[in-house]
Amino acid sequence: MPRASKRVCAVSGCPAMQADRLCPPHRAERERHQRQTTPTKRTRTWGEQKRRKAAVDRHRATVGNWCPGYQRPAHPAADLTADHIDEISLGGAPDGELQVCCRSCNSAKAGRRQASDLRKS
Ligand SMILES: [Zn+2]
Ligand SMILES: [Zn+2]
Repeated sequence: MPRASKRVCAVSGCPAMQADRLCPPHRAERERHQRQTTPTKRTRTWGEQKRRKAAVDRHRATVGNWCPGYQRPAHPAADLTADHIDEISLGGAPDGELQVCCRSCNSAKAGRRQASDLRKS
């Protein structure tokens, strides 16, 4: 009974019938809206990746392959990444200032953030 699984679009006034909660045009609109309003998704844009790469290049040009360290002393590191000083997930601006550290320090930072999230809930 395929008819039974169809329902009217969740957007009020839209008469479209489909199996999903939203009709395809409204679903596309919803996804576009979420891309614009979810800051962590905005950091995956090409422009942001270029900005991060530029921050790493600038860091290399001034101090070389050197990580400032996270909960450990500064140390040499070749695998540098740029990350937001103010975490976006904690309310920082997506185009906020970047800091450069190595992948291992970066993931230590992310791990600590997840641990504190767990404590909160
Ligand atoms: Zn619709
Ligand atoms: Zn490091």
